[in-house]
Amino acid sequence: SYEQILKTRQAHLTPNLLAHFKKPLVIHAGHMQWLYDHEGRRYLDMFGGIVTVSVGHCHPKVNKALSDQIAKLWHTTNIYMHPKIHEYAEKLVAKMPGNLKTVCFVNSGSEANDLAMLLARLHTGNQDILTFRNAYHGMSPYTMGLTAHSSWRYPLPGINSGIVHVMNPDPYRGLWGGSACRDSPIQTQRTCNCASPADECQAGLAYYKELEEVFKYSLPRGKVAAMFAESIQGVGGTVQYPRGYLKRAAALVRANGGLFVADEVQTGFGRTGEHFWGFEAHDYQPDIVTMAKGIGNGFPLAAVVTTPEIASCLNKALHFNTFGGNPMASAVGMSVLEVIEEEQLQSNCKNVGTYFLKCLNELQQRHDVIGDVRGKGLMIGVELVADREKKTPLPMPHVLEIWEKCKDLGVLFGRGGLDGNVFRIKPPMCIDRNDVQFATDVLDQAIKLAKP
Ligand code: PMP
Repeated sequence: SYEQILKTRQAHLTPNLLAHFKKPLVIHAGHMQWLYDHEGRRYLDMFGGIVTVSVGHCHPKVNKALSDQIAKLWHTTNIYMHPKIHEYAEKLVAKMPGNLKTVCFVNSGSEANDLAMLLARLHTGNQDILTFRNAYHGMSPYTMGLTAHSSWRYPLPGINSGIVHVMNPDPYRGLWGGSACRDSPIQTQRTCNCASPADECQAGLAYYKELEEVFKYSLPRGKVAAMFAESIQGVGGTVQYPRGYLKRAAALVRANGGLFVADEVQTGFGRTGEHFWGFEAHDYQPDIVTMAKGIGNGFPLAAVVTTPEIASCLNKALHFNTFGGNPMASAVGMSVLEVIEEEQLQSNCKNVGTYFLKCLNELQQRHDVIGDVRGKGLMIGVELVADREKKTPLPMPHVLEIWEKCKDLGVLFGRGGLDGNVFRIKPPMCIDRNDVQFATDVLDQAIKLAKP
């Protein structure tokens, strides 16, 4: 029963697994963009298991690929070869630009970023790694150092060793916020007031100058191993970086002996609509790309893709991962790629996402608590504020009230941002305009119903 599940959870699961809602939700089943609770009540899933269910819950084609593989072979260890991993590796790297043609499969985003850190340090011989102050790149002891926000990690000695956190180029909230270009056309028209050429903006340049100062004055050893960046910051609150910034940052990192790592854990696989990989919108090519979450539609699968030259440093030691790229994961990954192509989910993200932004922008006209609407494709953030001018985050009880009302009305949103006041909309990529309409109406009603 529901009560028994809650009791067992309290008794036997670690307390970090927060139940989130006042009345916790128990999910029994899922189909495409819908989830069903213990009473069979249906919810529109606007968070996709934290940006993980890319093509839809229990997508029939992915289910079939997995069950066919389960009937044939589960596991071999990496000592032997199996055809699925080779077929899949070939199909995955075909999606990558340039010489990013070597892949190492692992099982989670944290593992992928761990491996990227290792590769960068081994390849360059340098130690220091830069990330943004609001970044989230994982929870393993190694990646916990990359993850910057103090409330997202444990205060352990040593996790920050060799990590430098730099200013987040946030066009809404940061030091030079309020005037930056973001590359969504809607956002650009509304917020950009800089006089620079189309591909550059003043706030982006100001943030870049700050980064240059870090290189000039603050790097402990002068040279860097890498810089990590998401293409749109996910957990940090769907932060869209100013145009030109990442391209310039990548060049600066390389000039100082380092590699640039694109964390595509949330932004990959067509979610941002315009491109298959989020970094493509920033017009630069990373040296290492890490991916997880949507790659497996909920199956534990992740990958690091890099150049053969960088990958060759793994020859120096036994590098082993028991489950990485196992036959089941490879079969799932392969069919996820096929479904994205067959169902044209990338262009669906673009079309439905643009419509979503339009609906949310209209909603913003009617509700002062909506301070900002941003994002691209089906990676959208709605920031709730108490004061639009000052951008004061909406107090947490009010945010939670709106969030819970949305759940009661049948829509599950995610939350994020430094103050937890950004609703995150990153649903399975198969949603349509009716779903957008429903989600927008529910948010509208929930804001009206929730008492401050
Ligand atoms: N990178 C990013 C951008 C993420 O959002 C996350 C997870 N939220 C991770 C890495 C870590 O992934 P995992 O939880 O699979 O270890």
